[in-house]
Amino acid sequence: MTALAASPNAHAPNRPSVSDRALEPLIDKVVAGQRLSLEDGALLYATGDLWGVLAMADFLRRRIHSDAAYYNINRHMNYSNVCALSCKFCEFYRKKDEPGAYTRDMDYIRQQAIGAVESGATEMHIVGGLHPYLPWDYYPELVRTIKAVAPDLHIKAFTAVEIVHLAKIAKKYKRDDRQSGIRWVLSELKAAGLGSLPGGGAEVFDDRVHDEAYKGKIRSDEWLDVHLVAHELGLNTNATILYGHIDQRRERLVHMEILRRAQDQALERLGYTGEDGFVEPGLPATASVTAPVITLSRLGAPKPTPAMAQGKAGYFQTITPLPFFPDGSEMEHLYGPSGLENLRTIAIARLMLDNFPHVKAFWIMQTLSMAQLMLEAGADDIDGTVVWYDITKVGGSTTHQETTVADLHRAIREAGFTPVERDTLYRRVEREGKDWRVVG
Ligand code: SF4
Repeated sequence: MTALAASPNAHAPNRPSVSDRALEPLIDKVVAGQRLSLEDGALLYATGDLWGVLAMADFLRRRIHSDAAYYNINRHMNYSNVCALSCKFCEFYRKKDEPGAYTRDMDYIRQQAIGAVESGATEMHIVGGLHPYLPWDYYPELVRTIKAVAPDLHIKAFTAVEIVHLAKIAKKYKRDDRQSGIRWVLSELKAAGLGSLPGGGAEVFDDRVHDEAYKGKIRSDEWLDVHLVAHELGLNTNATILYGHIDQRRERLVHMEILRRAQDQALERLGYTGEDGFVEPGLPATASVTAPVITLSRLGAPKPTPAMAQGKAGYFQTITPLPFFPDGSEMEHLYGPSGLENLRTIAIARLMLDNFPHVKAFWIMQTLSMAQLMLEAGADDIDGTVVWYDITKVGGSTTHQETTVADLHRAIREAGFTPVERDTLYRRVEREGKDWRVVG
């Protein structure tokens, strides 16, 4: 495991050492800031030198983020688990009137927002099922209700599949001009106070997998449409990949390639040429990082583009690889990915998605112990302190997944990294108790 040890020089991590010599040309590319191909990705999956793959991802992760490990203090809320669809991998949804089905009213949502503020949260992460009967007005009202009692709370809400569903129930969806309905919905929600989009619902961008596992859900082109329009409207978004069910490794790589191209386009719209290095505005100076900016793998002069210098948004912030958990789903007969496959996949996501600033090990799904390992395998973020989170269970355990700032700090420091509290937009946060301010 020495290859995974922290580099003595945070800004110039040592060239990763590998036992599989076939990986050397890939290391040359990574060190030179060159893009890995799909074939390179296939080799990263095929090699028996898993620790070499992790070392390569760790090299890139340290060059981008040094030893910073980001987390945020947030609350998750599901407004309803009633869903018109029945995705085979999903154990969250209920049909209306089925035992356990719920839909939150505005009083509940208001109380959740007040509770979030009282717990010092900077973000509320909100998703739900595709409710067939809730009217369109419910959704902007939900956002306005939160903003009325918690104006500083960042609202990260509604996956792409929900946005398309909202366009349909608002009667703005046009099959021959999908983007106009999506634009209308996102503009209305943004005006109400929506701050960014989560990355869920991407699953695996492949029609075979789509038709077998989540037929009825939007396909990749519509998922990408939503994120494209969000970016054009100046909303940052995130991305996921839900892997380890009926997908093949090659399909995961294609999914990453599609996301990488979409991010290229987003960065181009912000004025990024690929030569100067992509710099996020206002990224934190961490305890051991002296530069106030973070560049991605294609290193060059670390200067922000004019658009970014003005703090303009409109790109993917984070990729979160999500392992499939079979328990309670229609695909319970499958095994789901192993811990080693999870480590390999997060490392490959770091290496392939060279234009994504952040890779998240979503501790609530991966467990905090696994997230510690993932910080050494390419991840730089472990998400937040979560009190309620119903949409995902870890191995059939309790639905109440929570931890504290102290536990997160302990876990991050134990793994050899420096905890950095961030807000949703990856700006550094300073706090005293529940009072906080953005300083990045
Ligand atoms: S994954 Fe989402 S869209 Fe599919 S059934 Fe579950 S809640 Fe509904």
